Amino acid sequence: MRLLVVEDERKIADSLKKGLEQETYAVDVAYDGEYGYDLASTEDYDLIILDLMLPGMNGVTICKNLRVEGKSTPILMLTAKGELEDKIGGLNIGADDYMVKPFAFEELLARVKALARRPKNSLPTILTAGNLTLDTISYKVTRTGKEIGLSKKEFALLAYLLKNKSRVLTKEQIIANVWDFDSDILPNTVEVYIGYLRDKIDKPFKEPPLIKTVRGFGYRIEGD
Ligand code: CA
Repeated sequence: MRLLVVEDERKIADSLKKGLEQETYAVDVAYDGEYGYDLASTEDYDLIILDLMLPGMNGVTICKNLRVEGKSTPILMLTAKGELEDKIGGLNIGADDYMVKPFAFEELLARVKALARRPKNSLPTILTAGNLTLDTISYKVTRTGKEIGLSKKEFALLAYLLKNKSRVLTKEQIIANVWDFDSDILPNTVEVYIGYLRDKIDKPFKEPPLIKTVRGFGYRIEGD
């Protein structure tokens, strides 16, 4: 899951990024409205966390523009106390949910999970390939009923492969969806992480391997 945070208060933006990354999301941050709008309209996100008052372009304009362009990415709008009533009270600007600052991170996380779970954008809760299962809510991964411990990146990578089961994914697609926009990730890093995953989900099991290398193209996961 890839999220965009558009927030000019750096402390809030950076702590959101840190907290959400700990929850296995890939998070891009924009500190002003114009850059945020650029990213939101050109990149593919599962959810946008959008501050209302921003330098460059405000959250209401960004939200409206995205909807006019036909982008249906869920938007969680952040507002300071009082702004909601004053600036956008009664206006239908196309955001999916609102939160008033200051808020507890746990509450934001609950809203993020709820929005990301909405049927039009979401994954089913349990993803499978053959006898492997991954639970996107409890973060539990099993194969032939045995629980497998994965790191956060390994989990995010496996979830992305499962979400696109049977499709060949290039290293570039994998980087764009599993790592952050500005992470210094080389295609070799994907190979390394695919290796870690194989060591955990394929090698210990006397079962046909699930992760396939498609030489010259990338990787895919297989299994009914
Ligand atoms: Ca602001």
